[in-house]
Amino acid sequence: MKTQVGIIGAGPAGLVLAHLLARAGIESIVLEMHPRQYIEERVRAGVLEQGTVDLLNELGLGDRMMRQGLMHYGIELRFAGRGHRIDFADLTGGKGVMVYAQHEVIKDLVAARLAAGAEIVFEAKEVRVDKIESEKPAIRFTKDGVTQEMECDFIAGCDGFHGVCREAIPNGILQVYDRNYPFGWLGILAEAQPASHELIYSHHERGFALMSMRSPKISRLYLQCEPDEDLNQWPDARIWEELQKRFSTSDGFSLTEGPVIQKGVTGMRSFVVEPMQFGQMFLAGDSAHIVPPTGAKGLNLAVADVRVLAAGLKEFYASGKRDLLDRYSEICLRRIWKVQRFSWWMTSLLHKFSSDNEFDRRRQLAELDYVTSSRASSATLAENYVGLPFD
Ligand SMILES: Cc1cc2nc3c(=O)[nH]c(=O)nc-3n(C[C@H](O)[C@H](O)[C@H](O)COP(=O)(O)OP(=O)(O)OC[C@H]3O[C@@H](n4cnc5c(N)ncnc54)[C@H](O)[C@@H]3O)c2cc1C
Repeated sequence: MKTQVGIIGAGPAGLVLAHLLARAGIESIVLEMHPRQYIEERVRAGVLEQGTVDLLNELGLGDRMMRQGLMHYGIELRFAGRGHRIDFADLTGGKGVMVYAQHEVIKDLVAARLAAGAEIVFEAKEVRVDKIESEKPAIRFTKDGVTQEMECDFIAGCDGFHGVCREAIPNGILQVYDRNYPFGWLGILAEAQPASHELIYSHHERGFALMSMRSPKISRLYLQCEPDEDLNQWPDARIWEELQKRFSTSDGFSLTEGPVIQKGVTGMRSFVVEPMQFGQMFLAGDSAHIVPPTGAKGLNLAVADVRVLAAGLKEFYASGKRDLLDRYSEICLRRIWKVQRFSWWMTSLLHKFSSDNEFDRRRQLAELDYVTSSRASSATLAENYVGLPFD
């Protein structure tokens, strides 16, 4: 097998990159270790920044998203028993975010690639990268028990946090920066009408909670929990009881309850490697960085990386110049660190830390009061949440 860009991973990074390259007339093949059905059903993120929405539309991939997604122009910050709306449209000149599940984005991206006759190799096993420092790197993998080799000009490591690409970079090249948080999120998907038409981020003395949604009939709710929380200790009735407490207001707010159709615990961490490139291989998305989900940035950051990578590859194939490609890490990292800062800030503002004392809790409440009462501070939150502009 031969292609110009070998892409490992059919997540948002890998698939959006394949589409961007196709638009620029550059060939690529995507290798994915899981079956198509698995990646199209995997429940993950659900908030798309304005820039991600605009890019999907520009690529002709936004039809279903525009019909089924829910455009939001604000969020609520809830604390001390009261809600406070942050009005994105007013604070950012009309921008908003789209609530549309990541696995729906994946379905749209896969369908469009396959309809265009492109190749996605599902269930590619034992994927390994080879000769990444040479002009002709290769990817070896096994498909249906047969070992194959794909020769390419470049490799895009879009294989998520647990992938093989980052690990293939020789020792001593990458610098790792990370932070673990002393809590996780217990998330549920429930057949219940969302109790509000916008997301609610709730700061509560029992711990943080988030109310989100996937459709007008399906709620997505999260509770701050221990990082290694045992789900067996959380029957549905206990989850609802805890959620009701954490969202309660002085004027009697109540969540709509319904059957829980999925639940899981997600760990929280911040992680960045620098640089994000080595030889002919480029890391993009979760393979190079992880953000805690409080700022709803993981998917969006993955898409932001591949915009830069696609522009660099386009320049290379058009002119032979590597100027942009050589600056890939530097350009991406400027945005990544700003997004890391925002995700860390939202996390620190809203969660209960085990080391917290009453001073810290009052400081958090003062900051929430400031964020919701100062236009400058609300605008900072809004501008980051809808997505910073691209360079
Ligand atoms: C459980 C979970 C819940 C999340 N919830 C949220 C949320 O609520 N909000 C939010 O903003 N973000 C959330 N995120 C983060 C967000 O989903 C990710 O940031 C986003 O998926 C990153 O996209 P990616 O393409 O870089 O990586 P991924 O989506 O992880 O895609 C990588 C792909 O590579 C494949 N792969 C891995 N290894 C190999 C290999 N060796 N060979 C071939 N293929 C391979 C994987 O199967 C996967 O399909 C969540 C993530 C997880 C894991």
